[in-house]
Amino acid sequence: MGPDAQLTGVRLGGADDVVDLRLSGGKIAALTPSAAPAATLILPLMADAHVHLDKTFTTRRTGAGAVSLFDAIERMQADKSNWTADDLYARASLAMEKAYRHGVAAMRTHVDWNTAEVPVAWGVMDDLAREWRGRVDLQLASLSPIDLLAESGEQIAAHVRKTGGVFGAFIYRNDGLADKVADVFALSDAHDLPLDFHVDEGLESEAQGFDLIVDQAAQRRDGPSVLCGHACSLSVRPQDEVKAVLERAAAAQVGLVVLPTTNSYLQDNAPDRTPRLRGIAPMKEAALAGVDVIIASDNVCDVFFPYGDYDLFDVYRGGVHLAQLEPAAWIDAITQGAARWCDGAAVTPLTVGAPANFIAVQASDLHDAISRPSAVRHIYRNGEILA
Ligand SMILES: [Zn+2]
Repeated sequence: MGPDAQLTGVRLGGADDVVDLRLSGGKIAALTPSAAPAATLILPLMADAHVHLDKTFTTRRTGAGAVSLFDAIERMQADKSNWTADDLYARASLAMEKAYRHGVAAMRTHVDWNTAEVPVAWGVMDDLAREWRGRVDLQLASLSPIDLLAESGEQIAAHVRKTGGVFGAFIYRNDGLADKVADVFALSDAHDLPLDFHVDEGLESEAQGFDLIVDQAAQRRDGPSVLCGHACSLSVRPQDEVKAVLERAAAAQVGLVVLPTTNSYLQDNAPDRTPRLRGIAPMKEAALAGVDVIIASDNVCDVFFPYGDYDLFDVYRGGVHLAQLEPAAWIDAITQGAARWCDGAAVTPLTVGAPANFIAVQASDLHDAISRPSAVRHIYRNGEILA
């Protein structure tokens, strides 16, 4: 329980009006109109629905600067001999600590799963999830090449189910993909597993795995949730085709997670040449079509993206710049909207009676906070400021 306190001149998210916020017993006790000028921007805690804690903080070993997604995958693979339980734990713990300090309260990490056997990282992340519960609620998603699931999907799905995880696959222009996607959905149905795909992470218009996923999702009613990450190729496909598939995705309740940092770094990347295409999925069109669109970090300090600090607000800032997003319309994409995809129970609304869980930025509004990365930020958890 935090002490009683009053914050004056508060702007709540993208709101126009300014309020005073009273804290009592660890809760938001009152929100009243304020006479003070806006001095503090308050945002809900954040949910980072797509990260890779097994890969993070490895650039000292791998070097930075992959020139393509597949170059990065190869170089990351070469590092895996270093992935002992201790190594994974140390790197992932640092990531959790950073995210927590920045105001993240929920996270979904993908975990590479490249053979039939349970990877060491899965157990480590499962332990971390228990250790961090209540501070950063961590969800695990398996990430397997979809071709592996054709052979070992049943075994992997059963283990993922046993540990309460999410079932995932990496898809890029695989042969016989329609059948393979159908098999993944069958496993999801059989084991009641939410799905999370890395799909079409490239700029070839023939990469249309997203459409196959939408087709499968459209065929079932009330199944487990389906989230698609990347879908970069939608950015280069004919507009009418894209509009049609986004409308079908909305109807089938397929969500889209956009990863601005990794996409802008890896797509259209070639030495001594300035990128022309930025690889960002048509997120505004998707939102207009009714698709639930969220923004997440993806890779941090690894060969896929050698920067980052698990500061999801900074990723949102980059998204606002890159995709010309209207800040107030998209803050939900890293807070409550994102939390709905990864069980973010601590991401609570900014309403009277709710737990005093929020981010307080010394900024007058969202534009000001986006403009000044150095603006001081305090994280409130149950009414108390994190030290
Ligand atoms: Zn990813």
